[in-house]
Amino acid sequence: LQAPSAAGLIWQVIRNGEAKTPAEREAVLADPGFGNHFTDHMVDICWSEKGGWHRPRVSPYGPISLDPAAAVLHYAQEIFEGMKAYRHADGSIHTFRPFENAARMQRSARRMALPELPSDIFIESLKQLVAVDADWVPSAPETSLYLRPFMFAKEAFLGVRPAKKVAYYVIASPAGAYFPGGVEPVNIWLSTDYARAGKGGTGAAKTGGNYASSLLPQAEAYEKGCQQVAFLDDAGNLEELGGMNIVLVKRDGTLVTPESPSILEGITRDSILQLATDRGHTVERRAISLDEWRSGAESGEIVGAFACGTAAVVVPIGRLLGTDFEIVHTGAEASELALSLRQELTGIQYGRVEDRHGWLT
Ligand code: PMP
Repeated sequence: LQAPSAAGLIWQVIRNGEAKTPAEREAVLADPGFGNHFTDHMVDICWSEKGGWHRPRVSPYGPISLDPAAAVLHYAQEIFEGMKAYRHADGSIHTFRPFENAARMQRSARRMALPELPSDIFIESLKQLVAVDADWVPSAPETSLYLRPFMFAKEAFLGVRPAKKVAYYVIASPAGAYFPGGVEPVNIWLSTDYARAGKGGTGAAKTGGNYASSLLPQAEAYEKGCQQVAFLDDAGNLEELGGMNIVLVKRDGTLVTPESPSILEGITRDSILQLATDRGHTVERRAISLDEWRSGAESGEIVGAFACGTAAVVVPIGRLLGTDFEIVHTGAEASELALSLRQELTGIQYGRVEDRHGWLT
């Protein structure tokens, strides 16, 4: 048992007696890829209607035992987060804007009728896991430890209502450099047969169902030779990609990004747009129709676009492919801006650039 944390909970830490040896761990860290390998421990915290949040624990990573009637398996009452821990040159380990992830998880929880995990417990859960598995945070350039907090309805009950028993977990997975050979522009398939979210739906929540419904259009994107899929709303406005936000770059350096109640508000996008504002760029958050992008690209008013999210950070969009049209961005201007913002953001994350906004924890 450890001393009570800032959040007043007593954490129990059960060390993994079968943890990987240093040699086994180093072999994984030499080429981790993404999402393939997991650290030796995990965090879990229970919630019940009667007892609130209780029994916070770090324990050996391993299978979870669930009742077959657990509500999550039937009605998908589930949410998650995604963020990274970065190792600095002095060996210290930092997370990036974790309070934003905590707040977003609370918004997701509200939408999915799950209990809100207080931010201090969320932050403590990351610290506890990273402290035990610190050796799993890689140090090669552009590598990190991906942290995956998630919460689901555990109660065994087949009626359709919010579960009275919920579990929160954090697992961690070492992540290699996303673009080992340098950042290459991506091609995007515009899905018009499928939507990611609807008015009043769950698009703004980070909940599994949104990702399940993106798998078929994502497969279509691969068939069309594209790496990612983009979605529109009912009115033909641009929303986002399956797992990244979109920003358009205008000739005068203005950055335009969709504002919509049905997209996931990315923390990478918010940070990139702050850095651009600091440099004097105008930033517009508003509805953008596909037509505006098409005509702007044709007239030269829109010189490029990029996508952004935790996994890839920032990546220029080379092509947007639709069923009967194509937008091609070949100019260097927008991709140079995207890459320089990427450089500054990763500089802050890895401790090479001053953290003037106080984003690191
Ligand atoms: N949109 C969607 C649908 C996503 O899954 C993600 C990744 N979390 C993002 C945008 C980008 O969010 P962030 O920058 O916080 O990773």
